[in-house]
Amino acid sequence: MAAPPPGRCGRVEQFINNAWVRAPQAAAQAQALGGAARTLPVVNPHDNKNIGAVGAGDRAMIDDAVRAARKGYKVWSATPGRERSRVLRGIARGIERRKRALAELETLDAGKPIEESEWDIDDVSACFDYYADRCDEVFGDKAYAEEDVKLPMDEFAGRLRREALGVIGLITPWNYPLLMATWKVAPALASGCAVVLKPSELASLTCQVLGDVCVEAGLPPGAFNVVTGRGDEAGAALCAHKGVDKISFTGSLQTGRIIMSACAKDVKPVSLELGGKSALVIFDDCDLEKAVEWALFGCFWTNGQICSATSRVFIHERIREKFLARLKEAAEAIPYGNPLVKGCRLGPLVSEGQYKKVMKMVERAKRKGYTLLTGGKKPSDPDCREGFYLEPTVFVDVPMDAEVWREEIFGPVMCVKTFASETEVVAMANDSDYALAAAVITDDLARRERMTAAFDTGIVWVNCSQPCFAQLPWGGRKRSGFGRDLGANGMDKYLHQKQVVTYVSEDPFAWYPMFDAK
Ligand code: NAD
Repeated sequence: MAAPPPGRCGRVEQFINNAWVRAPQAAAQAQALGGAARTLPVVNPHDNKNIGAVGAGDRAMIDDAVRAARKGYKVWSATPGRERSRVLRGIARGIERRKRALAELETLDAGKPIEESEWDIDDVSACFDYYADRCDEVFGDKAYAEEDVKLPMDEFAGRLRREALGVIGLITPWNYPLLMATWKVAPALASGCAVVLKPSELASLTCQVLGDVCVEAGLPPGAFNVVTGRGDEAGAALCAHKGVDKISFTGSLQTGRIIMSACAKDVKPVSLELGGKSALVIFDDCDLEKAVEWALFGCFWTNGQICSATSRVFIHERIREKFLARLKEAAEAIPYGNPLVKGCRLGPLVSEGQYKKVMKMVERAKRKGYTLLTGGKKPSDPDCREGFYLEPTVFVDVPMDAEVWREEIFGPVMCVKTFASETEVVAMANDSDYALAAAVITDDLARRERMTAAFDTGIVWVNCSQPCFAQLPWGGRKRSGFGRDLGANGMDKYLHQKQVVTYVSEDPFAWYPMFDAK
């Protein structure tokens, strides 16, 4: 399939108040530049070709978007749950109708193999449907949730109201551009919040389309806004804006730190979904073929750019040699290349910057003399020459303090280590600054339970790695962040709790003697 001609992808306007607009400042600047607005290029990572542009939103555009969101919040937060649910379902259907186009855009923009992108888009509509259900259940005919709370004094009646928190700034990464945004947009809208979404400057296209889908589904103006742009400009402006009640962020640890500091100034609440360096522990009592496939999927899916990638693999010493031989053979057989071609299972890294960063880490590991089982270079296939490709790469027996062992690489790079006992492997698996996910492969039921309890992470996979469902909460501990996306309580972080206490007695309160009961 041919890449689209330059300029076809993306919009340079911003989606504010249900319309595509250029902020006055940007329009003036564009005039001064002879008609060219400030934009960011859209680059196809398969061949490094420019295929379009998106707007480089600035402080003024963020301000316009937040003002629109404040108005949108008034209307949307007062809308009954059933109606909000109906609109969310409409968004899910709009996504479904555009599935093919959205999947292609995601692949062109981020380099994801097309069948993965299709899967992502299915997950996006499923997530909107899930929060449509939750919205109905939790709010029903009311715009807020309410429950009576029994108090220890009969003179008082207690109620707990859970109301939409306000205007939420959503800042998201490029590895699942529309899906990561959806994990926040769907529960935030279900809760009655209005949002300003700042997607990653490296992959914003599908988030822009979500704007059109929302209009079509009948979302009132201002409830959903998208401002594309750089993190240190549009993202920073969103964090600093006094009209934003909370920031919900998914991205790197480094940016998470900056965002938390920026929000501290106004004591603005944040939730942070950050990086990981997850472990996959394979015991000698398992089916080796299945273990090898989950090891590959756990690290090379999404071209290795997964926050929860099980990039530290522990293999029991008794099956080490067999495992490594099969892993090498299978890794070298992964179909790679143009991600738009069906059957591709490994595409390019998202950008030149990311490619250089990952390559530098791989080169440093090679220079240290670490054993390379396979990969470690750009594939020789001419189709991959211009793109940001790296072969599936596996290092073996690197030291515990190696950069490739400890740091999140965010590319198709796995490290394998041998272990002898359960106690030893638990200590090594938990020895990480991150604590997002961990996985174990074993046929021993009691061991599965022991390992599940021993992992210090927010997510545990048993006999698999990476499956993710909207029904279960997602998030980590330690440097992987805090707060949870998804799950039955996924709306909680977009709601605030208001306690209401009513004095219901017929008698005076009579604390002061002059008010004593007659
Ligand atoms: P990143 O931190 O570079 O960027 C994420 C977002 O933050 C982007 O929209 C970016 O523009 C914005 N940003 C950058 N600087 C900013 C600033 N100063 N102020 C405000 N916003 C700013 O991350 P990335 O490279 O886009 O994504 C990869 C990272 O995301 C990895 O570390 C990965 O583990 C993490 N991630 C985590 C999860 C999770 O659920 N825990 C999911 C996906 C990705």
